[in-house]
Amino acid sequence: MKSENDVGRVSVKNGRYKIKGKFHIIEPNTPIFDENGKLCGITNPRDMTYIHSYGGEAIFFESLSKGKFIGSRCDNPKCDSKESIFMPFRIYCPDCLRKTTVIDITDIAKKTAIIHSFIITERSGAFNILKKPIKFINVEFEDVCTIFMGYLSIGEPEIGMRVVPIFQTKNPTYTIMDISWVPVGTPESELPDNFTF
Ligand SMILES: [Zn+2]
Repeated sequence: MKSENDVGRVSVKNGRYKIKGKFHIIEPNTPIFDENGKLCGITNPRDMTYIHSYGGEAIFFESLSKGKFIGSRCDNPKCDSKESIFMPFRIYCPDCLRKTTVIDITDIAKKTAIIHSFIITERSGAFNILKKPIKFINVEFEDVCTIFMGYLSIGEPEIGMRVVPIFQTKNPTYTIMDISWVPVGTPESELPDNFTF
């Protein structure tokens, strides 16, 4: 177990990351033998803290913690895709490569989000903290040219079902886990802990 001083933390000073603590912790490996004592392999313990820089996408994650759903739009008049709204958030327009305009699409999401398709996952990869089975949904919005991948927190997904976003505004993680979806009409009292509309 890491001590409080060992936990890898990052602060920013004059625009540069300053790291403190341990980001790579070495533990001894162990051999794997079969029933007859024949060597088959080894374990390779790796405890590492990964630094994920958000850069121009930071506003998207910061806004989730405030109950806002932030997309982006290409406003380049010369672009064939001008006025296209992107969600997931794109820093640059993929067609003209110009920087996009940040726009708030919380109201569009609340009023028009529907389930485009879904997949229910009984088994997850390592480090999953979502409740299983996980109901992954692809969410479609009016006036938005892309589809957003999320997870349904309440109810059973159906294609075409109207959903509304909920946000982890209490104790946010500042990750994509801070946004989830529930069927339209769900009362606030039924939302998962720390989530609000
Ligand atoms: Zn463009």
